Order: sequence, then C-alpha cells, then structure tokens
Amino acid sequence: MGSSILSIIYLVGSVTFILGLKMLSKPDTARKGNLVAAAGMTLAILGTIFLYKVDDVPLHNYGWIFTGLLIGGVIGVLSAKKVKMTAMPEMVSMFNGMGGACAALISIVEFNHLVASGATTGGMVAIILLSLVIGAISCAGSIIAWGKLAGKIKDFSFNGQHILNLGVLVVIIGLFVWLVLGVGATATSLVVFYIVLALALFYGILFVLPIGGADMPVVISLLNSFTGVAAACGGFLYNNPVMLTGGILVGSAGTILTILMCKAMNRSLKNVLIGSFGGAAAAAAGGSKDQGNYKEISLNDAAVVMAYANKVIIVPGYGLAVAQAQHACHELEKQLGERGVEVKYAIHPVAGRMPGHMNVLLAEADVPYEKLLEMEDANTEFPTTDVVLVLGANDVVNPAAKNDPASPIYGMPILEVEQAKVVIVNKRSMKPGYAGIENDLFFQPKTSMLFGDAKKVLQELLAAIKEV
Ligand code: NDP
Repeated sequence: MGSSILSIIYLVGSVTFILGLKMLSKPDTARKGNLVAAAGMTLAILGTIFLYKVDDVPLHNYGWIFTGLLIGGVIGVLSAKKVKMTAMPEMVSMFNGMGGACAALISIVEFNHLVASGATTGGMVAIILLSLVIGAISCAGSIIAWGKLAGKIKDFSFNGQHILNLGVLVVIIGLFVWLVLGVGATATSLVVFYIVLALALFYGILFVLPIGGADMPVVISLLNSFTGVAAACGGFLYNNPVMLTGGILVGSAGTILTILMCKAMNRSLKNVLIGSFGGAAAAAAGGSKDQGNYKEISLNDAAVVMAYANKVIIVPGYGLAVAQAQHACHELEKQLGERGVEVKYAIHPVAGRMPGHMNVLLAEADVPYEKLLEMEDANTEFPTTDVVLVLGANDVVNPAAKNDPASPIYGMPILEVEQAKVVIVNKRSMKPGYAGIENDLFFQPKTSMLFGDAKKVLQELLAAIKEV
C-alpha cells in the first residue's frame, strides 16, 4: 500500500517538475512555476522520508534527516533572501556545486554498501562511478566558477595545461573501466575508488581555472547539466523515477541553455572552453586605441530630447543591475508613456551576467512583458527609433562585434543601436565593459554620453522630464 502511494507521489512530483519548467519559460508564470516544482519536490522528499523502505524496513534515522533538512533549509532561505540580483550567477553556481557534491556523496555511500554486501555487479559499479566522477567534477568546477564570479579566484593557466587535463581524464577513464570490468566493489578497490574521486575533483578545478570570467555563465550552465546527469544516475541507482526525471530535466535544460548562450555569443563550446574571451586576448585588444572625442549631454537636454520623441528604446545592461535602477527605469518609461512617447526595451540574450538576467530584473519592477523586444525584433525597430537610451550596457551594443574582425567579440550578435537617430549612453565613466575593450559607439557623432550612476541619473531624468 505504502509503496503504491509512494509511486503516485513520485509521479505527481515528476509531473510538477515538467509543468514547473514549462511555466519558467514565460516571465509572467515563472514565479508560479518555481513554486509548483518546489511543491512537487517537497512532496517527493516527504514521501521518501515516511514511505520509502529498504528491505521492507522504513527509514528510522529521523533525527539526522530532519537536522540536515533544517540546517540546509535555513542556509538556503537566508542566502536566497540576502543575495543581490547581480550576484545571482554566483549563487546558482554554488547551489549547483552542492548538487554535484550530493551525487558524489551518494556514490561514496553506495560503493561502501556494495563492498560490505560483497555484491559486485558491474552495471551497479558503473552507475555509482559515473555519478561519482560527474558529481565531483561539477562540485569542484562550480566552486571555482563561484570564486571567479565573486572575484575571489583569478584566471589561472600554464603551458601544457590542456595536456595535463587530458592526461587526468584518461587516468580517470582507465581506472573507471578497470573497476567496472575487472575488480568491481571490493575492499582493495575502495582505495582506487577514492583515488578516482580525488582525480575527478582535481579535474573539475583544472578544467574551470583557465576559463575567462565572461565565459563563466556558459561554464556554469554546462556544469549544471553535469549535475543533472549525476542526479539521474542516482535515480537509476535507487530505481527512483522522480530523481531520474529531475536529473534528466536539469541535464537537458542545462545542455540547451549552454548551446543557446554559445549561439548568442556566436562562439563554439570548444572556443569557450579553451579560448580566452574576457581574459588576455581581450585585454590585449582593449584600451589604448585612439578613438577621437566623445560628447556629453546634460540632464535637461536629454530630458527634452526624450520627452519630444515619438519612439524611445531603452537598452538595459549589467550597469542597470548593479545600480538596482530597474524601478527608476520603469518610472521613467511610464512618465514618457503618459506623454504619448512609445517606449520599449531591447533585450540582448547575454546582457548582464546571465541569460535572462534583464528579463528577471525588469519583471521585478513590473515592466509589462510585451514591452520587451528580443534582439532580432529590436534590430528591425532601431531605424525607426528617435532615441535609444543605453543604461549600463556596453559590450552588447559594441559595433566592433560587427565591423572589426580583430576584436575579441567579433561575430557576437549585438543590438544595432547606431541605426537610431540619437543614442544616449548612461554609464559612470569611459571605462570598458566586461570584455575589457573600447566601444566605438561612444565616439560616433549621433552618440552623447550621460555620465553617472544609473539609478541617480534616471531619478534626475524623471524629475527633469516632469518639468518639460
Ligand atoms: P558590460 O559589462 O559590457 O557593461 C556594463 C557597463 O555598465 C560598464 O561599461 C560600466 O561602465 C557600466 N556600469 C557599471 N556600473 C554602473 C552603474 N552603477 N551605473 C551606470 N553604469 C554602470 O555589460 P553588458 O550588459 O553590455 O554585456 C554583458 C557582458 O557580459 C558581455 O560581454 C557578454 O558577452 C558577457 N556575458 C557573457 C555571458 C556568457 O554566456 N559568456 C553571459 C552574459 C554576459 P562604467 O564602469 O563606466 O560605469
């Protein structure tokens, strides 16, 4: 009876994951989707705790289980409440690392069980090892990615690093095959098992250390898909459909997101993993080129230009997120709308530090979703736009991506804002953006710079427009 109820619970859990993921694909249902999937996960966890049986014996170590749940839950809630929107990728990375660590820990427990029971089935050993290796790589790699995004760990590479990486991977695969086809789970092979664990952790560190900071979101997404696969291995191991479904969904969603991000930057995954975008190449190409002069615009002039425009497109970037200027931006958009100006937002797929970053930020400020234009649509609208207001965006509007084959961002699709009649760029200085390169747009005759913190500038602009 208990086991049929548990099967139904697992089925409901799996369905909520699929529904939740579907709802996450639209900003207006995303919040609800997250809650639906979380409710399914809670149900699956409680069902497992109270109804799952090992050899007909129910779980009994409730003290340990609930202490763990409480500690993890409190840490999760507090850190999610405290995290700034700009630090979201770090948080995702850390949570992902914990998922990988879980998969590796399950493998350690289950391998020891196999050793103790003396049952050495190759298939079981293979799944345990797969989950161990992928989980450990994902855990170590995600922690390095977290450190890099948080500015605590610097890019690090040395000559022959790729050969060393390949060597470590070959040794891991060799030991893996030896354990599965040869010795299986025995007391002696336990030592080799821990050597595989250590090598996988080492590989995770080596693999992520040299990758440039700007590519970290792609790596996080890739590691996320690894964690999904490791969790799916756990599902196989325990014959648990909800773990399997969750793992497969995370694995495939992570893979699709990785591919989409590479496409948005017009780069191959290989180039991301062994190239150095955002690192040395970008720094070498940046900075010193003499671009000529740029011109500034006063707040009052900017207010007049925008208030008398027919159509304004706002381009939000990382600087808007740093300044937490999304609410001020929405106020400005509403004020212009009340004056009869048509206002839209152009969203680049990798604006900010994570795909979807700008959509989430603007949704938080209640910007109607229909005002957001995807890159292709925005590019068709710029030629009929009077004013483009660039708010803390830089690389995603850099024409060098289109015109300069020597640029490290050459080939990355950009928002072609220079097609509009007037471009106003708000940032704090002439410093480059994430890729570390100068931006020709700022020196073009139709561009004017409006310096200052995005939130402060928007608030002052709003007050000035009210006076026009
Ligand atoms: P950028 O990092 O290129 O530029 C942001 C700009 O914001 C900076 O030039 C900065 O200039 C300005 N800024 C910072 N703080 C403020 C503030 N408080 N007020 C106003 N302006 C501010 O951001 P974009 O969104 O244009 O581009 C994102 C970059 O990240 C791209 O290079 C993209 O490729 C990369 N990326 C990569 C991803 C991947 O998958 N690999 C995913 C997402 C993004 P200043 O200091 O002068 O104020």
